[in-house]
Amino acid sequence: MAGGFSSQILDEIRSRVDIVEIVGQFVNLKRAGEHWKGLCPFHSEKTPSFTVNPKRGIFHCFGCGVGGDAFGFLMRQDRLAFPEAVRALAQRSGVELPTQRTPEVEGKLEGLRRVMTLAAQFYTDALWAKDGARARAYVEGRGVDLDVARRFGLGYAPEGWNALLTHMASAAASSSLFAISRVAWSPSAGAPWARRSRSISIRPRPRST
Ligand SMILES: [Zn+2]
Repeated sequence: MAGGFSSQILDEIRSRVDIVEIVGQFVNLKRAGEHWKGLCPFHSEKTPSFTVNPKRGIFHCFGCGVGGDAFGFLMRQDRLAFPEAVRALAQRSGVELPTQRTPEVEGKLEGLRRVMTLAAQFYTDALWAKDGARARAYVEGRGVDLDVARRFGLGYAPEGWNALLTHMASAAASSSLFAISRVAWSPSAGAPWARRSRSISIRPRPRST
């Protein structure tokens, strides 16, 4: 994982970019057999000793010794860090880079998934609990078979404002994630949290990430 990028993705970008075209933006290259030659942009010279090998996707200067691939050229030429060069060439070659998630973001996402799972479970359990009889009758009255309701994870948000939060607290879910998850809201700073839905039948949406 060079610079956080997999070798597959780097190879994919390398295979799609034309190093002659990249270098050619900055150096006047002339064909010399399989290679291309020009005046080195990294040291002062009068006779071309800078070569580009399109087959191998690399450049090399016999005068000052610098060399590398398309990423290396762009880093040196535009003074870019490796990830910046990767992003620039990925964009140029139409390769989509996977979103990079830091451990902090990953941790937050995991927390959010937990909040959503707990909330979904809470509402589903409520529908099948003794107190959910009225909600089940309502669901059936709307022409939804109870087996289907169970299979699709339909839930019921019972009367009252605190049950979900008590459930969350007992499951030790972080309340700071409520706001982002939008399963609950607080009317003002410091005010108690309340869940968004009350006495309705709800259905969780399938996870997309
Ligand atoms: Zn050179």
